[in-house]
Amino acid sequence: MSEERTKYCHGCQAQLDVDESECPYCHQRQQSYVEESLARGIRSIFPRHMPASRILLVSIIVYFIIVSIDVLLHPKYGLKDVLLSPPPEIIYRWGAHRRGETVWWRLITANFVHFGIIHIIFNAYALRYVSPYVERAYGSAMTIASFLVLGTGSMLCSNLLGDSGLVAGASGGLMAFIGMAAVSSHLENTVLSLQVRNSMIKWALFTFVFGFAVSFGGMGIDNIAHISGFVLGGLAGFVLPRQSTTGFTRLWMIRLSRIALILTVGIASVAFASMANTSAFDKYQRECIASLKIRQYDKADVACSRAYETDKGQEISYHYYIYTKIMLNDHKKARELCAEGRSRFEKPSFDGLCKIVGQ
Ligand SMILES: [Zn+2]
Repeated sequence: MSEERTKYCHGCQAQLDVDESECPYCHQRQQSYVEESLARGIRSIFPRHMPASRILLVSIIVYFIIVSIDVLLHPKYGLKDVLLSPPPEIIYRWGAHRRGETVWWRLITANFVHFGIIHIIFNAYALRYVSPYVERAYGSAMTIASFLVLGTGSMLCSNLLGDSGLVAGASGGLMAFIGMAAVSSHLENTVLSLQVRNSMIKWALFTFVFGFAVSFGGMGIDNIAHISGFVLGGLAGFVLPRQSTTGFTRLWMIRLSRIALILTVGIASVAFASMANTSAFDKYQRECIASLKIRQYDKADVACSRAYETDKGQEISYHYYIYTKIMLNDHKKARELCAEGRSRFEKPSFDGLCKIVGQ
């Protein structure tokens, strides 16, 4: 058998022909050739050793750099703001979460946003330390999926239970990783793994004590996200399938992790697309209002129509656009927008404006 024509059984590691659908030695069902080569192809793009841990670390650092560049490009802010206290409006634009608002995609994007250099260094260090334990026990695909799901879950808890305020950071997902690593090493039950378990528990306790102490000092530490992340991670640690030194030994475990990865990365992509769309809408809307204020209706027409095109779920952008069209004497378009806005929102808020154009 040549190398390309062989694969290894996930159950017993026997060398099999690629077309074999069941292992003749341990009788386990095998992945199809297409599934196996697709997975191998995707894996070959990424680093061989601990790919998920590296991808997550690079993601939060690169995201921090991108947000920092955006802060630096702003005429009002400088390096000191980037490092110590990035302006809330920019942090918010890049996906931070405001408690009480419950915007679904912000619960996801907020995991990647950090408040300055101390925040990112803390979290990057923690991620680099704890993530490999999770990845070794639960596999690369499930590591990324867990970070997204459990980080989002802790954001949701913080959003439902916490006082109002801006929330961001990977620490909910990280505390979940600490919980998962504690549970997996507890279940592994070797002298070494129990030491890892104890150090994870100590770390979690230290984070809680430190978090509460600093909170009394007035610093914004999200203790609710920390605690809920740790609890959610612990639960996930018990429920999720763990792999042996050779990887997952059952086909359903391999497939479950792949499905979890595809679903969570897909949803996260939609979340980031929503964020980009919203920040584009905010930009056009600001230009639209500014132009209307100084009665430059031609300029307003461009910006207001872009705001309207970017997000048709915003009632207010209809109002500004209709108003602009009335000022430009384009009553036909104003009437069309009135009809569309009314059918979309079914509110009498259009009455005043639309009466002007006879609707
Ligand atoms: Zn086998």
